[in-house]
This record gives sequence, structure tokens and C-alpha cells, in this order.
Amino acid sequence: MSAHLIDGKALSQKILDSVKHEIESLSRSGKPVPGLAVILVGDDPASKIYVRNKERACQATGIKSNVITLDERTTEEELLSIIDTLNKDDGIHGILVQLPLPSHINESKVIEAISPYKDVDGFHPINRGRLLTGEDCLEPCTPKGIIHLIQSTGIDITGKHAVVIGRSNNVGKPAGLMLLRNNATVTIAHTKTQDLPSVSRTADILVVAAGRPRLVDETFIKEGAVVIDVGISRVDGKITGDVDFDKVKEKAGYITPVPGGVGPMTVATLMENTLKAAKRAICKTS
Ligand code: NAD
Repeated sequence: MSAHLIDGKALSQKILDSVKHEIESLSRSGKPVPGLAVILVGDDPASKIYVRNKERACQATGIKSNVITLDERTTEEELLSIIDTLNKDDGIHGILVQLPLPSHINESKVIEAISPYKDVDGFHPINRGRLLTGEDCLEPCTPKGIIHLIQSTGIDITGKHAVVIGRSNNVGKPAGLMLLRNNATVTIAHTKTQDLPSVSRTADILVVAAGRPRLVDETFIKEGAVVIDVGISRVDGKITGDVDFDKVKEKAGYITPVPGGVGPMTVATLMENTLKAAKRAICKTS
């Protein structure tokens, strides 16, 4: 069997188009344009690329982007003061601080300083807590993109066994919670999991977010499973996922490529979150 390809690029374009249409209709009814502030501290090359991609997505959707580039030596106090100003700015509906931050800045302190209503990355403890309790919140972008990708197959998540490999706070754990919210039976596997291939083989839906290139081969796969590869590693200069695509595609029912799977979805869901944050703010003031 050869798996159906889940095209994250095409799906992300659909999401961007729909965000764009909604923004056009907001603006036709005289409502303000959503604004996203992206703060980049230092000049990490990968972070610069991510910020540029976010800026492009803002241009494509009509979101007003404000990229604030700060020197590597920016102090924590200076960064907190900029966030405070953005929290109070009615034209800014989303604030994102590109991670990682330089080591002299406390990441948790910075994330907690962002208003939870503008926390479009979904990393603030209030949004994380609301995700845990199943309340409405700004959901983290990558797991939100993962759910969209699974839903795009037309397969109902309800009642399926989902295995997530990886238990990070930003990807693995929230992906597990969001699958649970969609009524899957969820197993979260990690480095201490015994016999990972056997555990993975019980999955109707397998989400791999380990950051280990080609960790998952065909021995991990149940015939016909939906396989979502979140991993991004550079191997011999080539972007490589956590799934050995050529081997796994012969057994899986659906599979995401790397690149072109989860990556573009993360940016598209950021635009969705920015629109959501803006609509909430606009409703409050009108
Ligand atoms: P992380 O390093 O914080 O967490 C990795 C997790 O995987 C850990 O919980 C660890 O227990 C588990 N793990 C590692 N090796 C394992 C193994 N051999 N067996 C079982 N479990 C193992 O990484 P992260 O931030 O969760 O990101 C994971 C991957 O996803 C990375 O490659 C990252 O670059 C990528 N990523 C992609 C996007 C995107 O938009 N496509 C977004 C975020 C992260």
C-alpha cells in the first residue's frame, strides 16, 4: 500500500485564504485590521527565517505586522517594558516573542508578561491551563496545525487510539491534550517508554515530535495509520523529519511530508490565532 500524502502546504494556503476573507469582511464593516507584533532578540539564523515566514503570512492575509528586532544584548527589563507597551496598544492583538531567547533572559518570565489575550503562541500558563481543562483558549500553533492535518483526511478522531511520541510542553503534551479534546484515546510516549515500536504499532494516529531524524520506520506502523511527522532536523544540509518517509509510506494510510507538512501549518494557525485574538478584542470594545 502507498499512503495518501497530507499536503500541509495546500491546507495552510486554504487557512490563509479563509483568514484573509474574514479580515476583508471585518474591514468592510469598519472594524480594525488585526495587528501582530513579533519580537526577535539577537540574530539566530533559524529564528530570522521563522520571523520572515510569519511576516509573509501577515502580508498574505492582511494582518498588520510589526516586527521588532532587538540586539542580542537587550536586557530582560528592556524586553519586559516593550511587552508592557504592546499589551496596552489597542492596535496590537497578538504578541509573539520568537524563541529561543538569549540565555541571560528568563523565557518563562517573558511569556508570563504577555497578556494571555494576546498570547497567540498559546504558551502563557493561563492558555496552557485552559487547554488542560478544555476551556476556550488560544491554542499552541503547531498542535493546532496537527489537528487540522488529521481532520483534513476525513478520518474521525473520536475513539481512535492516538500515540504521540514526545512530551515537550510546546508540542507533545499539548498535541496529546488536543487529541483528547477530540475524543481520541491518547498515549504519550517519550525517551523512557519501553518498546516504542510496539507502542507505536497500536496507533491509528501516530504523531511524531521527538526531534530524532528518521526515528520511526515501518516497524512502528499499524497498517493504514495516519502518520504526522513534526520533526525538523538538518541532516547533511537537508531538512529531515522524524519519520523515514520512504519506508513508512508503504504501510501508512496517510502521511505528512517534511518539509511541506506540519511546518507551513504552524504559520497558518498563528494567523488564525491572531484573527481570533483580534475578534475577541474588537467584540469587547464595540
Ligand atoms: P523537544 O526536544 O523539546 O522534545 C522532544 C521530546 O521527544 C522529548 O519529550 C523526548 O522525551 C522525546 N524523545 C526524544 N527522543 C526520543 C526517542 N528516541 N524516543 C522517544 N521519545 C523521544 O522538542 P520539541 O520542541 O517538542 O520538537 C520536536 C521536533 O519537532 C523537533 O525536531 C522540532 O524542530 C520540531 N518542531 C517542528 C515544528 C514545526 O512547525 N514543524 C514546531 C515545533 C517543533
